[in-house]
Amino acid sequence: MTEMAKVPDGFGRFGEFGGKYVPEALMGALDELERGWEAAVADRAFSEELTRLRREVVGRPTPLYEAKRFSELAGCRVLLKREDLAHTGAHKINNTVGQVLLAKRMGKQRIIAETGAGQHGVATATAAAYFGLPCVVYMGAVDVSRQNLNVIRMQMLGAEVHAVESGSATLKDAINEALRDWVTNVEDTHYVIGSVVGPHPYPELVGALQSVIGDEARAECLELTGALPDEVVACVGGGSNAIGLFRSFYRDQDVVLTGVEAAGEGLDKRHGASISRGEPGVLHGARSLLLQDDQGLIAEAHSISAGLDYPGVGPEHAWLATSGRARYVAIDDHQAIRGFKALAQSEGILCALETAHAIAYVLDTDVSGTVLLGLSGRGDKDVATIAEVLSR
Ligand SMILES: *Cc1c(COP(=O)(O)O)cnc(C)c1O
Repeated sequence: MTEMAKVPDGFGRFGEFGGKYVPEALMGALDELERGWEAAVADRAFSEELTRLRREVVGRPTPLYEAKRFSELAGCRVLLKREDLAHTGAHKINNTVGQVLLAKRMGKQRIIAETGAGQHGVATATAAAYFGLPCVVYMGAVDVSRQNLNVIRMQMLGAEVHAVESGSATLKDAINEALRDWVTNVEDTHYVIGSVVGPHPYPELVGALQSVIGDEARAECLELTGALPDEVVACVGGGSNAIGLFRSFYRDQDVVLTGVEAAGEGLDKRHGASISRGEPGVLHGARSLLLQDDQGLIAEAHSISAGLDYPGVGPEHAWLATSGRARYVAIDDHQAIRGFKALAQSEGILCALETAHAIAYVLDTDVSGTVLLGLSGRGDKDVATIAEVLSR
């Protein structure tokens, strides 16, 4: 991608972050998407249909769960927003069902997506199957062999999985390939991006579709406890489950917002802490904080959890971090495994390894009062990884 087009300041930007740094060939499609989304939001029939899909397909509202025994371990009152109980086992379906409904409204006849560990690919294939649209998922070749179960799930759902061999053959390369497909097929294709990343309007759009998490949780918390939480905590990969939870609390200045990144093997070794250790730069069509080497080349991220293994982060998080409205901490692979075990054995919940980073933060840090924690997904996909680490 050499020919860059830049949006004027103040347009699709979060402070100095965000924007629309894409080849000219995509500008039209992004404008069309922005207009399509604005029209959909203003259309009552669209929001009614989305509400119905959330109830019948996704299984919303998800419960707010008081984790009594885990609270004793953590030394604070922990409320879990159970996105693990949503269809396909994570928050990702909130986004894919909304985007495919939008694509259908815009008359698109083909769905494409990228996926890292396969969770977003499965959620997109599920939504595409529901609407009867063909679906192509780009996935790094390394991930295809690491996450074979999800490849099979996508194929069973009728999606075509393309293994991407270029670069490090992981998520960042899969996104590049999906963008390339989109440039070629913009007329009839909608690209369902999997997090609050990418060029404007994606960070805005995905954040809006995930905000159902925070809107529900805020009301549920008020009903259960009579007050807002003192702190809201979520893990941050690209950042969509965290933005979905955080946005509903932006105006509640007393509520602390904490994002938990992956410290991987340690912040001085391989990790995925783009906010704690990244520098400003442009990747996948937006300006944000990125892991880079001395020459500004994108560095490879590492985390035991595939969903946090991304060298960038959504521009809204970069803005929340630099403006000080949210704070960001990093939790390493070992802490995450301990968090996973603690939640499993105190509550009977096998959470995703991504979520386990947020759990470990609450467990290992002196947090007080009421903590609302986004339980972004279930951990069935991770049990083999955890068993392997524990047997070493
Ligand atoms: C994909 C995923 C994440 C990371 O993605 P975000 O966009 O940061 O939310 C976190 N948890 C689970 C369970 C996931 O599947």
